[in-house]
Amino acid sequence: MPDIIKLLPDSVANQIAAGEVIQRPASAVKELLENAVDAGSDDVQLIIKDAGRTLIQVVDNGCGMSVTDARMSFERHATSKINAAKDLFAIRTLGFRGEALASIAAIAQIEMKTKRVEDEVGTKLLIEGSKFKDQSPCTTTDGTSISVKNLFFNVPARRNFLKSNTAELRHVTEEFLRMAMVNPEVTLSMYANDKLIYKLKKSGLKERIVAIYGNNYKERLVPVEQESSIINIKGFIGKPEYARKTRGEQYFFVNNRFIKHPYLHHSIDQAYQELLPSDTFPSYFIYIETEADRIDINIHPTKTEVNFQDQQHIYAILKSAVRQALGKFNISPAIDFDVEQSINFMPPDKNAPIRNPFDTQSSDYNPFENQDGISYKKPETEREKSNREHWEMLFDKNADLPPPQAGSTQTGIAVEAGHAASGTFQFGKYIVAGSSNGILLIDRKRAHERILYDGFMAQLQSDTTSSQQELFPQQVSFPLSDAEIVRELKPDLELLGFNINDLGKNNFVVSGVPAGTMNKNIKDLLEKILENYKKNLLDLSQDARANLARAMAVNMAVKSDKQMGIEELEGLVSQLFSSSVPETSPSGKLIMRVLKQENIEKLFNK
Ligand code: ADP
Ligand code: MG
Repeated sequence: MPDIIKLLPDSVANQIAAGEVIQRPASAVKELLENAVDAGSDDVQLIIKDAGRTLIQVVDNGCGMSVTDARMSFERHATSKINAAKDLFAIRTLGFRGEALASIAAIAQIEMKTKRVEDEVGTKLLIEGSKFKDQSPCTTTDGTSISVKNLFFNVPARRNFLKSNTAELRHVTEEFLRMAMVNPEVTLSMYANDKLIYKLKKSGLKERIVAIYGNNYKERLVPVEQESSIINIKGFIGKPEYARKTRGEQYFFVNNRFIKHPYLHHSIDQAYQELLPSDTFPSYFIYIETEADRIDINIHPTKTEVNFQDQQHIYAILKSAVRQALGKFNISPAIDFDVEQSINFMPPDKNAPIRNPFDTQSSDYNPFENQDGISYKKPETEREKSNREHWEMLFDKNADLPPPQAGSTQTGIAVEAGHAASGTFQFGKYIVAGSSNGILLIDRKRAHERILYDGFMAQLQSDTTSSQQELFPQQVSFPLSDAEIVRELKPDLELLGFNINDLGKNNFVVSGVPAGTMNKNIKDLLEKILENYKKNLLDLSQDARANLARAMAVNMAVKSDKQMGIEELEGLVSQLFSSSVPETSPSGKLIMRVLKQENIEKLFNK
């Protein structure tokens, strides 16, 4: 094999900003690991001492270098990764600039050993602060080992600028993990101060993520996949119920490079909206593939920021991909976390009058009449339509089955057979509904929160005042800061049915309240709403209205200990299933679980 390294033309060399390639140990780690992977290695070790201050070593089993290439590789603008003018564009997008080794060699002491398969012996090279010290034959295994010692030994200012060892090691680890996440097919190990920190065997992508974050991630991840003419998206997102209290496991990779992209991040946030409690963050590992000429990576010297053409399209595609993935895998989170449950409800009793639970137009049945008197009608969204059809489909599918017999062992749980809507009943704070393949458990209060929330949102968006009950005017006062919030929210509160007059300072008069809140203490209710509202404010992704609707829903939902009749329960279930997100409450809590028949059977295995 001939020598393969060529010098970039001067014009190009100048075109490429010199940039500050190496800012800290982690930057050197990134460059060395990239080179190792580029060299076709499938086993790479990273060895770190003192967070990279005294030693960064990368050992790979890749293609190695010839004696001449080994020497050439440290020249500025020396690269084997482009060889024709037409590839110059790829320099910008892929980041090949032939600068990394030269930059590292300028600020450290380097020892490199390298050998190609076809060579008898390897070559060993010593360089210090860009000065060539020695090159000699050596015995070494196929591939390359580069040791970078005493980083910044000749740049004290830089050295002093470094953070604590803990902080620097964290940066190093982060680079290592980013590398690991785009190269699952490479075995990667990391040692710090002689201790093995990671050993990641070559695997598939999901296994790699699980290997990094732990076995319990197996059930936390949901695949995302979306192809389009502009971009392809794949990867994994975390189920909402496992969202974390800290940001962190949020990764975008574009053409296999880690990037930061606040705009696309926002798109994922939006997709999760209403599924997460306000102070938690979803995990995501999103891999975007797109043609090189649709992106410009070089807007930032460390190459973690990119500009897309079609930014807005990509935003929309990503959001819908994530939303779809969430919908598909979250529609009824099962207790054993098996993917995709179908909810096979039992047929209603043949003799019972069948009420279409979704016909909100013609039915004046209101499940909450007896207690709160609140129901809302609003135009159906796409999501609601699909929920409803899903639900109806399940009814239809079962409608022709012979009714299960009481106590039948064949259907396992058909104990309540013969009762309309499969014997729905209340068990403490839950609604229990039988199905032919399991038992559906619904948290009643959360379900009600979801229904109320949807209603409030519809009300707020319709810009017409909701049904209102007049009240003997009551004066209420708040602390000044709260009074400001009340003033801010007043227009929206009025859309929801409150009638509030501002008396100035911290005093108000309330002379109307939303239907259903009659028997509540008004000041109490408003205070609780404010309290929730303020808590939610910290979550910037929620808009003020969603925030208010959520605060109202939480405070007005049926109390957990309230007894409800069968009709009310069934009405609640059907309203839930025509709501926008039947699976989670507006605060992101789980509404329903399926206890599968086979798991119930397991309970009786002994
Ligand atoms: P670039 O990666 O942008 O080409 P570098 O300065 O990182 O620039 O590396 C220069 C050249 O040295 C590479 O193009 C490659 O030919 C060679 N090289 C660097 N590291 C390795 C390695 N671990 N194994 C084989 N070749 C390498
Ligand atoms: Mg490189």
